[in-house]
Amino acid sequence: MKHGKQTSSRARGKGPVRTSNGRRPKGSAIRVRKNRTTVRRPVRSELVSEHELIRTSPYAHLILKEGKILEANLGFARMLGYRSAATLAKKQFSSVLLEQSRRTFQLVLRRLARGERPWMTFELEFVKKDGGVMIVEAHFAPSQTTGLLTVHCNDITDRKSLQNRLIDSESLFRNVINSMGDALIITDLKGKVLDVNREFERLTGFTRAEAVGQDIPYPWVEELALRDYLEWLDRLRKDGALHDFDMTWTTKDGRKIAVSLNTALLRSTAGNIAAMANVARDITERRAAQLELKDQVKRLEVLYELGRSLTGTLDPEEIARISYAQISKVIPTDGFFLMVYDESTARLRPLIWFDRKGEEVVEYEPPRAPLALEEAPACARVIRQRRSLLEFRSDESEDPAAYGFFGDTGLRPRSLMFVPLFSKDRIIGIVSTQSYEFYSYTKEHLTLLESIASVTAIALDKAKLYQETVAKSKEIEARNKELDDFTYVVSHDLKEPLISVEGYAKILKNAFLDQASPEAKEYLQSIVASCGQMKKLIEDLLQLSRVSRIDEQRRPVNMEQLLKEILSEFEFTIRERNVEIRMATPFPAVIGVEPHLKIVLRNLISNAIKFCDKPRAIIELRAQVLNGEAHFSVKDNGIGIEEKYFQKIFMIFQRLHQREEYEGTGAGLTMVKKIVEAHHGRIWVESVPGEGSTFHFTLPVA
Ligand code: ADP
Repeated sequence: MKHGKQTSSRARGKGPVRTSNGRRPKGSAIRVRKNRTTVRRPVRSELVSEHELIRTSPYAHLILKEGKILEANLGFARMLGYRSAATLAKKQFSSVLLEQSRRTFQLVLRRLARGERPWMTFELEFVKKDGGVMIVEAHFAPSQTTGLLTVHCNDITDRKSLQNRLIDSESLFRNVINSMGDALIITDLKGKVLDVNREFERLTGFTRAEAVGQDIPYPWVEELALRDYLEWLDRLRKDGALHDFDMTWTTKDGRKIAVSLNTALLRSTAGNIAAMANVARDITERRAAQLELKDQVKRLEVLYELGRSLTGTLDPEEIARISYAQISKVIPTDGFFLMVYDESTARLRPLIWFDRKGEEVVEYEPPRAPLALEEAPACARVIRQRRSLLEFRSDESEDPAAYGFFGDTGLRPRSLMFVPLFSKDRIIGIVSTQSYEFYSYTKEHLTLLESIASVTAIALDKAKLYQETVAKSKEIEARNKELDDFTYVVSHDLKEPLISVEGYAKILKNAFLDQASPEAKEYLQSIVASCGQMKKLIEDLLQLSRVSRIDEQRRPVNMEQLLKEILSEFEFTIRERNVEIRMATPFPAVIGVEPHLKIVLRNLISNAIKFCDKPRAIIELRAQVLNGEAHFSVKDNGIGIEEKYFQKIFMIFQRLHQREEYEGTGAGLTMVKKIVEAHHGRIWVESVPGEGSTFHFTLPVA
């Protein structure tokens, strides 16, 4: 270290002199401000003394000796609000310092005394003349030879307040990001985490310290989601901002959460992309709601599909299979069975029975003989309690008996549901699903199975009803056939003796008419008439039985032609009874058995003529095609029929009048109905008593 010389008479320091940077000042001249005038001093060959320098410096300096101000310059005095430096001379340096700074200063002195680090800069708080406080950066430059301590002061109050303001704005920023309801991660462009907010810490469980500095792959991003995420980042770099990127995060404790990311690029004031702000919103609940909705939709779809498929079948086994197919879409189903239950025998009959063995689904042949309730204990409970059963079985319940007929298979389902199939109030079956996992089923699963079961029950009920109806109609058909056969045989057999009786009666009548008494004559007359009537009856019966016996080929029939033929048969009667026929041609052709259709027309026209009490009978014959059917009507202006007899007149031998009044057997309309229905048509009557009747019937169009 070089030692400078004392150069100024005013310099009080006796030791070697250094400038604040420890070097000797250079240059030929120094401009010194003194008493507001700048004077140019001649430069002496010697170095300018430190005292001189301090005195002339526009900055704040002072020289201390043993803690006291030896000399302070005007810059220092003005800094503290004094007009001259003289007032400060001899004062303890500590007297212009605040308490904390005093301690710092004492420390400085102690360290200097120990000969430690000679160059020191501290921030000290000075008390100004007016009591105000200012922050000063004080640089202590001790001289080891003189023991003097030069202090160079720099007022940093403004800088400090700016710094404080910065600190304030940093804390404002932190407050803002911490008050966000969404997690925030600020990263650099490569993805390195620069900052996170408190919501991030709460959401993920990773602390700020753990998160900051993390690079991709982040511990909270699932490996699977990473690829999408990286692609997303690429797009982000190109487009600047991206919205609603849904991904799954893993929290520190291993939970999965669904988040939706919105990212924006942050630019520096110069406009360069500096960082990325990722705002992540926890959408776990929203996702759960979405999933729930999806589930609901799936359930509805299953129910809809079930209803749709079930309408197409009346086979119970197929119904069970359709149910199984739909159930296994929405309910974990390792095992499944559907049994029908017969209340009267208290027995169960499995329709189908499936089990999963590994990847394979095995269909078991259901036991042929119906099961007694003891063989299916869980089903028995459902039947007894009349409600569904959700059961979880532990490893302990290895008793095969607990599994009923499952016992033999060795399969041990852990979660089981049994739901009764109700038809009105009766249990008609049980549907069950089983899973090998524990706690596979929830209450929701049970409710869903119940819904499916009720649709299945309706289908099974319908199928049962259909089967019963088919069985009944087959029985009725068989009975009808028997009856027709019987009628045929009886009529046929009756006809022979009747013809003999009639023949002999006629012979008697002809041969002994002259000798007979009037009484005997009347009897004979009556026998002949009764025989004729009986013959007609038997003929009708024979015809009726023939209508159902003869299975003739159906052909296109020209109804107009047929009608004209019938009318010509009635030509005599029409003229005799003064009948007017109105016929609205053309008539559609139909498919049918011509001789049978003739019987229909003949009967209806003959009745229309017969049951007429007006001097002029008017018969209207109409036809049209309606909804793909040929529709015919025969209308008269006769006596009409009371509504209460609209059905009765179509029954065999049912007549509304005495034979004396209107002759007939009461078999005509029965035959007509039978024929029309055999042609898959319908027949009915409309009538107003006293005004007339209209008989309508339909036939298939040709
Ligand atoms: P039948 O004509 O041999 O008496 P049907 O079976 O043809 O037997 O008719 C049954 C009954 O229906 C008739 O006895 C009659 O009372 C009533 N009926 C049928 N057609 C007519 C009609 N056009 N007008 C009024 N009543 C009718």
